[in-house]
Amino acid sequence: MVRPARFLASAAFLLAAACSDNPTFPGQLCVGYSDWATSPYVLPYAVGTSYEVIQGNCSPQGEGHRGANRYAYDFGMSIGTPITASRAGTVLQVEESHIDGEIAPVGFDNYLVILHADGTNALYGHLTRDGSAVAVGDVVAQGQLVAYSGNTGNTGGIPHLHVSVQNCDPVARGTGNCPSRPLTFSNTDPNVNGLVEGRVYQAK
Ligand SMILES: [Zn+2]
Repeated sequence: MVRPARFLASAAFLLAAACSDNPTFPGQLCVGYSDWATSPYVLPYAVGTSYEVIQGNCSPQGEGHRGANRYAYDFGMSIGTPITASRAGTVLQVEESHIDGEIAPVGFDNYLVILHADGTNALYGHLTRDGSAVAVGDVVAQGQLVAYSGNTGNTGGIPHLHVSVQNCDPVARGTGNCPSRPLTFSNTDPNVNGLVEGRVYQAK
């Protein structure tokens, strides 16, 4: 039986799909994770709370986390769950105009993009209507409340948060031009090769 999660696609994926020059992505190898214990990233939700990874990295064919978008996580969470910054940075992009339940491969996603000091960009996708707690240009601290999760865009109808870190601003340049990067988290159980799909992780 095919789980519903198999049909989840990412904000990054839909943004890539929207890009007319979407390249052919090489390989599906998910390697190169940095030491989780010293990762500059923390889970994107409040300390003490726990959520399941409903789609992990290097998804099978038919799912969203593939190719340039293969290093991404979907956390199953109900609409309105507080989202916190995985890493400090500056808000580059805010989209919050779409209504929960507006589901389509392209065009209905609410999201944030936050630029980090090393030039990488975090994408937080599928946010709820008016679900941004920050504005473009805001400087945010790690762990700061930045958004509320939702069910907009290419969610397959399942409310969740998509998180990925990209090489450049995926909204401005398209995810195909800003490949995702291996991502580990320092404030949870060991995640040597990233988070494992189907597992629940508590933010400690
Ligand atoms: Zn996703």
